[in-house]
Amino acid sequence: MNAEKRRRIFAKFAAANPSPRTELEFGNPFQLLIAVLLSAQTTDRAVNAATRRFFPFVNTPADLVALGEESLAEHIRTIGLYRTKAKNAVATARLLVERHAGQVPCDRAALEALPGVGRKTANVVLNCAFGEPTMAVDTHVFRLSNRMRLAPGKTPIEVEQKLLRQTPAEYLRDAHHWLILHGRYVCTARAPRCAECVVFDECEDSGRHARRKAGRRSRGESDVQSVA
Ligand code: SF4
Repeated sequence: MNAEKRRRIFAKFAAANPSPRTELEFGNPFQLLIAVLLSAQTTDRAVNAATRRFFPFVNTPADLVALGEESLAEHIRTIGLYRTKAKNAVATARLLVERHAGQVPCDRAALEALPGVGRKTANVVLNCAFGEPTMAVDTHVFRLSNRMRLAPGKTPIEVEQKLLRQTPAEYLRDAHHWLILHGRYVCTARAPRCAECVVFDECEDSGRHARRKAGRRSRGESDVQSVA
């Protein structure tokens, strides 16, 4: 995909959604870190349902240490891997108290040294809490980057590095939000909704024309409109 087409894609995402945000609910960087840590292999909706049970009285790492692993596990038992996540979240909170004066560090190495915090979690925290132009590659970003030919790669890190190199600077901070939301609601894994896609004309997926035609037929629209 050439640079101009890539720029048009992000310009279209920006026009459709000028201020994209994570769908995780949080009130401060610490709550964001915990929400992202809990979100592995589960949906943001499930995480929000769980965090609403304890975020009202857990605002700081010290609060979470005081709550303790067993109590946290009870609050989050509706999400997958809740015991491991409770253990990591409390251990992370304890390290924040002991090593970082109860603050979330704006530093990749320090973040990735925390229990349960990997590269993707660090990228989300650096971006959403501190405004850093990082690229968190989750399952949606990985799929879209390959499907659209935006930044094809065999591994998340390969896709991340391509996106960081090739995304126009003015779109870098918001790019991963647009890709996640597009993957979650439009370019889904099993049934991409090409007929409703704002970047249809720029996408290089070979099946998009057939899917746009099928989508319009199912809505009773004329096939003539489906010629891009
Ligand atoms: S045209 Fe279809 S395959 Fe391409 S980005 Fe849009 S929804 Fe995804």
